[in-house]
Amino acid sequence: MECVKHPGREAKLYCQKTNRWFCEECGSGCASPKAHCKFRTACIIWALEHDRSGSLKEEAGDERRGDRE
Ligand SMILES: [Zn+2]
Repeated sequence: MECVKHPGREAKLYCQKTNRWFCEECGSGCASPKAHCKFRTACIIWALEHDRSGSLKEEAGDERRGDRE
C-alpha cells in the first residue's frame, strides 16, 4: 500500500473510517478527530496520537504491566 498523499511512499497506517492508507507522516493525527468514528477504539492512528499525548496511558498500561505477577 502507498500513502494517499505521497504516491510511492509506503503507507503503514490505515484509516477505516475514510478507507485510506497513510504514511507515518500523514497518519500522525486523525483527519477528523471531532467527528464520530465507530472504528476509533481500534484505530492505530488514534492510538498513536493519544499514546504520544499520554491520555491513553492508563488504558494501555494494564497490558504493558502484564508480565508482572
Ligand atoms: Zn504521506
